Amino acid sequence: MNEQGLSEKEIFSFLENAKSEDTDYYRVLSSMCTHPHKIAVEAHRLFIEANLGDLGLFAGACRLEQEVVRMLGELLHAPSIVVPSGGSCESSVCGYLTTGGTESNIQAVRGMKNLVTTGKKGFKGVPNIVIPESAHFSFDKVADMMGIEVRRASLDSEFRVDLSSVESLIDINTMGLVGIAGNTEFGQIDPIDKLSEIALENELFLHIDAAFGGFVIPFLEKPQPFDFKVPGVSSIAIDPHKMGLSTIPSGALLFRSPSFLDSLKVNTPYLTTKAQFTLTGTRSGASAAATCAVMKYLGNEGYRKNVHYCMQLTEKLVTEARKIGFEPLLEPVMNVVALKVPNPDLVREQLLERFGWNVSITRIPRALRLVLMPHNTLEDIELFVQDLKKVTAE
Ligand code: PLP
Repeated sequence: MNEQGLSEKEIFSFLENAKSEDTDYYRVLSSMCTHPHKIAVEAHRLFIEANLGDLGLFAGACRLEQEVVRMLGELLHAPSIVVPSGGSCESSVCGYLTTGGTESNIQAVRGMKNLVTTGKKGFKGVPNIVIPESAHFSFDKVADMMGIEVRRASLDSEFRVDLSSVESLIDINTMGLVGIAGNTEFGQIDPIDKLSEIALENELFLHIDAAFGGFVIPFLEKPQPFDFKVPGVSSIAIDPHKMGLSTIPSGALLFRSPSFLDSLKVNTPYLTTKAQFTLTGTRSGASAAATCAVMKYLGNEGYRKNVHYCMQLTEKLVTEARKIGFEPLLEPVMNVVALKVPNPDLVREQLLERFGWNVSITRIPRALRLVLMPHNTLEDIELFVQDLKKVTAE
């Protein structure tokens, strides 16, 4: 740090310089995040200093968090239960706002572990969870941090988790299962109703990672079952900072039962509240305000339009790609396309170097992974396919 501070002008010129190195979302087809809605940005600014880690001082921001949890509970068909939250607020569903899918997944598994190791009969040895091969890499962090074994079930030909593989991995030390509602690479939804049957039969928790799909599936023309309507679902991760159009960091974790949230409780002797259920201590009230504002502003109708638009982009991409001879690995379920092209790694490199397109690659099999987000346009898609044709023709 300098001994003496810089002027405002110098600071902003320094910041603008750094900002110019960032990629605008223009020509980005690899991200599950997008420009936050302007209402979310305004609300974020208004609550910039609010700390949800000290709820007693920020009763207003706390109320907004509880309102988001209530709205998300409604969206995800959560059963209504009244539970005391970390401070003086009350909620009709239980859950809290996280920093994103990674934190939500970590906390869901931590909750399972706390409940199982204190309660389940016959449980001995290293606890394990069974997740799909397609699960997000946040579960590698779960495995690393939590001292548990993470078992990966194989996928079927449509990139959904294979149920017989899941069943073969369950044993006496299994705490729970994970299903993905909108997997990161293919946008596919696991058979959550069938996973629920397996979970109920074996008395296991079932966590649903809907970090991406949570703001997509309910607004599709034919939504598949993935939320608390499915009886065996114990917890759900859903990220407002992805298709929810809120600001970063906005994730959420919802539980069917208050006992789950309770298992995460830590006493907080020197704060205005007695206990915390969250992973992080200091938490952004700004992103709670942003999420609350954008959800109320858009309503179901606004999100339905958003998903409809992204699905139009998706259909356009698949149609145009087929015209130049490229097929998707699977018919897109949501706004993610995995496209079979020869030598995808080289194609990816060329698309970026020559035309500035950011795309990514699926792991197995290797294919171009394209996420169609609100920042993309139908014209972009046409241009992209023309550039793809040029890159693959050589
Ligand atoms: N789960 C899924 C299905 C995801 O697609 C992602 C990120 O893309 C995550 C979890 C992690 O979310 P975050 O990066 O917000 O922690």
